[in-house]
Amino acid sequence: MPTIIRQPATPYVGRFAPSPSGPLHMGSLVCALASYLDARANNGQWLVRIEDIDPPREQAGAHSLILESLAKHGLESDQRVLFQSQRHDAYSATLNTLAQRQLSYRCNCTRARLKQLESLYDQHCLSLAPPPNSLSAIRLNQQAALLSLDKPTLDPLIDGVLGPLQLPLDPHDDFVIHRKDGLFAYQLAVVVDDIEQGITHVVRGADLLSTTNKQRLLFFTLGSSPPHYSHIPLVTDSRGHKLSKQNHAPAIQSTEATANLTFACELLGLCNNKERTTLQHKSVTTILQWATGKWDIRALPTHPIIG
Ligand code: GLU
Ligand code: ZN
Repeated sequence: MPTIIRQPATPYVGRFAPSPSGPLHMGSLVCALASYLDARANNGQWLVRIEDIDPPREQAGAHSLILESLAKHGLESDQRVLFQSQRHDAYSATLNTLAQRQLSYRCNCTRARLKQLESLYDQHCLSLAPPPNSLSAIRLNQQAALLSLDKPTLDPLIDGVLGPLQLPLDPHDDFVIHRKDGLFAYQLAVVVDDIEQGITHVVRGADLLSTTNKQRLLFFTLGSSPPHYSHIPLVTDSRGHKLSKQNHAPAIQSTEATANLTFACELLGLCNNKERTTLQHKSVTTILQWATGKWDIRALPTHPIIG
């Protein structure tokens, strides 16, 4: 009898893309686990990408700590880990393409001016181009990008957790793709790399929902289809603050891997506290297999979870 290899209907490639601004904490473990389980439950691949394009915000050695800690929790990339710090040529090439297609423009607005505008940019530098040698950021001209696609706006986002969402995309609020300080912007790098790695499914924290339409527009503009997005609830402390490196959430200890994993499972609603007590005495592999069998992304809560 030939071995039957189960193939998914459409190939699934998911990813976890941490910024190395500190070691892994419970909030990031929950995101890593959710994206891993969704990939495994769909017979897909799971990739890890280190988003190290913002050196001032990074902590020396954090990427090794993150990768080691993920491995101790049984979460290892199915392909070589991609480092954004090694992808500058690809980002520059994309910036050049967008400039040649006249879909981007330079902006030398000061921080003070932008602050006065609060959140939305006013396209000040679109008609008033900065002098050639002035230090400038580069923004995507969203209206020109939409025009190049023959689209008045984007279709609603169908989120895997939150359902259909009519997120506002203000075509005047042109966002930065290359920063004034010379660094590549997150919005650009994340899309160039999701395309390069053939990512079909993004499972990430709900704090990134506001970036999704900008990224979808960039995908279309670069001639690709955006992945399917699922935004999972944030893990907060009891006062409602997101567990994050900025809020000094404590690092998780690799010696407590099964306790951490089962706690993450409980936060994701896969088990209750009593089941967790039994489960945490099993191996990391057994816990991950068990959790993959239980995983149903549609059953996730849509409100923040208190961790
Ligand atoms: N590097 C981003 C972060 O750590 C996540 C990027 C993404 O998942 O799209 O917040
Ligand atoms: Zn400007």
